[in-house]
Amino acid sequence: MRIGNLAGVPVLLSEAGAFDLAAASDGAYRDAQAILDDWDGFRTWIDGRSPSWEPYDAELLEAPVPRPGQVFGVGLNYAGHLAEGGHDTTHRSLPQGFTKFPSCVTGPYGQVELRGDTVDYEVELVAVVGRHADNVPAAHALEHVAGYLVGQDISDRAVQGSGQLSLAKSFRTYAPTGPWLVTSDEIPDPQALRLRCRLNDELVQDGTTADMVFGVAELVALLSAVTPLRPGDLVFTGTPAGVGVFRDPPVFLRAGDVVHTEIPGIGSLRNVCVTAPDPADDLGRMWRDLTLR
Ligand code: ZN
Repeated sequence: MRIGNLAGVPVLLSEAGAFDLAAASDGAYRDAQAILDDWDGFRTWIDGRSPSWEPYDAELLEAPVPRPGQVFGVGLNYAGHLAEGGHDTTHRSLPQGFTKFPSCVTGPYGQVELRGDTVDYEVELVAVVGRHADNVPAAHALEHVAGYLVGQDISDRAVQGSGQLSLAKSFRTYAPTGPWLVTSDEIPDPQALRLRCRLNDELVQDGTTADMVFGVAELVALLSAVTPLRPGDLVFTGTPAGVGVFRDPPVFLRAGDVVHTEIPGIGSLRNVCVTAPDPADDLGRMWRDLTLR
């Protein structure tokens, strides 16, 4: 099952078209959060319906979960990415946890507003929490995942290098997601997905979730041991090798660049980079004055 956000309206999607979930439920499922808050009830409700499909304009798809309560990220969670960064891969160490602040979430075709000269791409599998997960064991963690999205963990490497990991990944528009939520039943093994990122026409990342150091279930278990995960929360699960900062010479995003992000079996994102509006004052400009260490 695919659940999308068509210009603010939650819809079921199929090859035949879109089905307005808000209207069909008399407003009970008015947005993604209402659906995820009642995930089991929603599944039962939708199973008993015969959708009437309407044609739709895919360009109008927005972030499937536009206002998540929490957005978790993990760094250094793919063997190849650890290796390209010069990290020790001989033992398994905890991934680097951070947050992408929820307001940076944008849609599958939204513009990425570049705020500096060292902004990078990271294709990622994103898990969407569908059931409250408080200190859950890994063996049961996937029962708490409603489904998956394709994600881009856009990252300002200069800000990241200054030690501001969460802010580096939270400038507005730095979390393209979509194109729709694919439910977990259609992704029986989240550790068997290919991930690809193309910058303009060049394939820059081509990995598999099999190379995660900590898989989705383990990440949910790890995070839920720290703080409860709630319906609608997003978990960005790390990126494989090929990011721009570790290329020789390094490659960073520029206005006009097109970032294609794809996970076969889920879908693809297409985000055009533009130059962000100028900061309001010298304080805002301080972020741009940071340099890579
Ligand atoms: Zn990342």
